[in-house]
Parts: sequence; structure tokens; C-alpha cells
Amino acid sequence: MSAKIKVTVWNEGRHEKSNKAAQEMYPNGIHGTVKAFLDKNDDMEVRAVTLDDPEQGLPDSLLNDTDVLMWWGHMAHHEVNDALVDKIQYRVFNMGMGFIAMHSAHMSKPFRKMVGTTGELSWGDDQHEIVWNLLPQHEIAAGIPEYFDLGTEEMYGEPFRIPQPDELIFTSWYEGGNIFRSGCTFYRGIGKIFYFQPGHETCASFHNPYVQRVLTNAVRWAAPKELVISTPTTCPHRYNPLVEIANGGIMKRG
Ligand code: ZN
Repeated sequence: MSAKIKVTVWNEGRHEKSNKAAQEMYPNGIHGTVKAFLDKNDDMEVRAVTLDDPEQGLPDSLLNDTDVLMWWGHMAHHEVNDALVDKIQYRVFNMGMGFIAMHSAHMSKPFRKMVGTTGELSWGDDQHEIVWNLLPQHEIAAGIPEYFDLGTEEMYGEPFRIPQPDELIFTSWYEGGNIFRSGCTFYRGIGKIFYFQPGHETCASFHNPYVQRVLTNAVRWAAPKELVISTPTTCPHRYNPLVEIANGGIMKRG
């Protein structure tokens, strides 16, 4: 890994073009807003791209130079090329790239493909949300109190069609009575995935300092840590014995 964590913030970027409320909430786009708060960290080099950029924002040269890929999409999940999704999955599973799915990315192609379920959930009107911190000792929860008041957010409710998360860090309460597993990790291959629920395009969550802190922590958590891989990533790969196999009834290799 390079000295700096190379982060790429990928945003579909369509709501900001077509919805006045989204434009007013995020005049630089959700990608620009996320990039701006991550840019305050000296250990990160942040790039921001959108679906409508050349090669859907992720040419091989950028994807292969990314340690952590952050993803926001909603209305155009189906437009994302399957070949690109395959490349993202390969890079997470086999190369250890981190992947952070934000808000409606629960239905994005890369998230669904990598966790292995539909990612569907119960959905409802914007309402008051409180985010509870269930795992304060986790790196992603550093600096986060036992709960924080998010204000108004789009309601996402259970049952969330995900596999049992490897770690459940946050659960949210909504004033209408729903609860939701709003911060979950998944270990896949040699990569790490984090899903975080806040971030509807017309809600202020990406301006919330706790949301910014969680996502900043998540970048550091998801980044590959001095990952040294000596084995090819193609299968089948024959691993020669590290010591001579002499007593197991196996013929000594000549
Ligand atoms: Zn939304």
C-alpha cells in the first residue's frame, strides 16, 4: 500500500442533475461533499467520479490504483456495466480493495454481487432517526458516542435482505417504530466491505460530523494493510510444499 490511502468516491450523480432539493442540499454533488471532508485527512488521496464520466468513472487505470472504493447510487443501478462490476468484485475479493456502500447502494450491483443477496429492505418516508453505536471498540466507531441524533432521514427498515453481517456496528431507530441494521461489515475474499445507511440525496446526513467521522474511520478500516500477496490470484494454483513431505505416505517429489 502506498503511504497515502487512495480513495475513489463513485457517485451516480443523477439526482443532483434532476432534483432541485438534491442540488440545494449537495451543490457539489454527493461525491464532491464526501471528497471535501475526506480531503481534510493528510493520509488520504481522494478522487471523485460519476457514472456519466468516461468509462463510467472507473477506467482500469483508476480502479487498479484505488485502495478504497466508496459507492453511492440509486436511480441508475441498472446502467452500471456488468463487466465493471466483475472487475470491482475481483479487486475486492482477490486484491484486497476496500468497498464502502453508502445509503441506497444497498441495491447497487457491486454490493449485491459481493454480499450475495438482493439487499432489499423495507422503505418509508423521511422521519427522525437515531443511530445507536453497538460496537464502540470497533475502529469504525472511534469518536462516536453511544448514539447520535441524525435528524431527518429516509426510513430504511428490517428485514434487510443481507447475509448475517460479520460485524454489526450501528443499528438505527426511527420514530415510526422501525429499526434497521445501519452499519454492517462483511469480509469477502481478502477484502473488506462496509455498508452505512445515512445519506439520502435530499437529507443533510453527509453534512453531519458523526456521519463524516464514521465514513472517515471506515476508509482507514477498509484500506488494505500492508497486504503482501505471493500467490497468483488465478485458480487452480498448486502450492509447492514449504517443507519436504516425508512421513505422510506421500511420494517425495523429485
Ligand atoms: Zn434514499
